[in-house]
Amino acid sequence: MKRIAFYPGSFDPLTNGHVDILQQSFALFDEIVIGIGVQASKKPLFEFDERAELIRASLGDVAQSSGVTLKVVAFQNLAVDAARENHATVMLRGLRDGTDLDYEMQMAGMNGTMAPDVKTVFLPSSPQVRPITATLVRQIAKMGGDVSPFVPNPVRQAMDEKFN
Ligand code: ADP
Repeated sequence: MKRIAFYPGSFDPLTNGHVDILQQSFALFDEIVIGIGVQASKKPLFEFDERAELIRASLGDVAQSSGVTLKVVAFQNLAVDAARENHATVMLRGLRDGTDLDYEMQMAGMNGTMAPDVKTVFLPSSPQVRPITATLVRQIAKMGGDVSPFVPNPVRQAMDEKFN
């Protein structure tokens, strides 16, 4: 059976924190579907197509050499429904700290009630990327800071183009 995991988030933009979780997941699954949550009411920094392209540019080659199929989709509905639509049996989430754990346990519990066929898998983030959040990356870039320690190269270039 093909192991398919659904990894939901906003990825606005992809950070080294997301990359760390995805690289770990390449050892566990045959296919990873990255679900970019899009909400009409929220104006993102990068549009869906840009976010998807930055994910492919940053991780496409690594996924391919690991023998993993990487897909990027948009979703607006419940993450468990989007996971099912993409034939995933696993919901993948990264854990940075105890705050993430408390929130993620609630989500996993409620998602498990709504969709017992989709199991949540938590992966712990590597120590060097634990503090990274996409929100802080956006703020640093807006104020002219160097985001290169926090994001893959294609994302840094795209942020340079947006703000300089
Ligand atoms: P974002 O808005 O940054 O995409 P979300 O809060 O939507 O983040 O989270 C998407 C997933 O990525 C979650 O499972 C979250 O725990 C994980 N994640 C985000 N940043 C990191 C990080 N620095 N280390 C590990 N996991 C992370």
